[in-house]
Amino acid sequence: MNIQIVSKCWCCHESKHETMTHLFLATSIANRLWKHFATCAGINIEGMHLQQVITTWWTKNANIKLMAIQRVVPEMIMWALWKRRNTIKHGGKYSYNQTKENIRVQIHLLIKVKYPWIQKIPTEWKNIVKCLSEYKPKLHAMSIRWVPPLRNKVKVNMDGACRGNPGKSAYGFCIKDEFGNLIYHREKILV
Ligand SMILES: [Zn+2]
Repeated sequence: MNIQIVSKCWCCHESKHETMTHLFLATSIANRLWKHFATCAGINIEGMHLQQVITTWWTKNANIKLMAIQRVVPEMIMWALWKRRNTIKHGGKYSYNQTKENIRVQIHLLIKVKYPWIQKIPTEWKNIVKCLSEYKPKLHAMSIRWVPPLRNKVKVNMDGACRGNPGKSAYGFCIKDEFGNLIYHREKILV
C-alpha cells in the first residue's frame, strides 16, 4: 500500500519498533551483553548511542594484542544479536546465555587463529582481557658457536626473512674458509 512502517521487533516481549538502536543496543538482552563485555574490559558505555559504543571499543587503549581483539568485539556482539533475532523470527529459541556463549566462543577462536603461539588461552572474556593485557612473549636464548669447515673446504652461512607473504624480504650469505676468513658475501633486499 506504499506505506512504509518499521517492523515490530523480535528481540523482546515489548514489541517495539525494530530499529538498529533497539535491536543492537536498547533491548534488555543487548544492553546486558554490552555491559558484560564492556565492564570486564574497563569500558563504560552508559548513555551512549550505538555509534559511540562502537567507537569507544575501537579506540579503547590497551596492550596492542588486546586492542586488536577489542576492535572486533562490537561486531561479534551485533552479529550474535542478529543471529538470535533471526532464530526467534523463524520460530526458534535463543537465550541470553546462548548469545553470550556464542560471542565468547567466537572471541576465543579468533585469538587462537590470530595468536596461535599463545598457549592456554583462557575461555572467559574477563580472563582473556587479563591474559592479553599482561602478555609478554617468552624469549628463548641459546649460545651457538661457528665451527670452521674441514681443510680445503669452505662453509656457507645464510639466512633470509620476509615481512608478510608476499612482502618485503631480504637474504644474505657469506662463505668462509677453514680459518674463518671471509671469501665472499652477498646481501640483497627484495621489495
Ligand atoms: Zn525488542
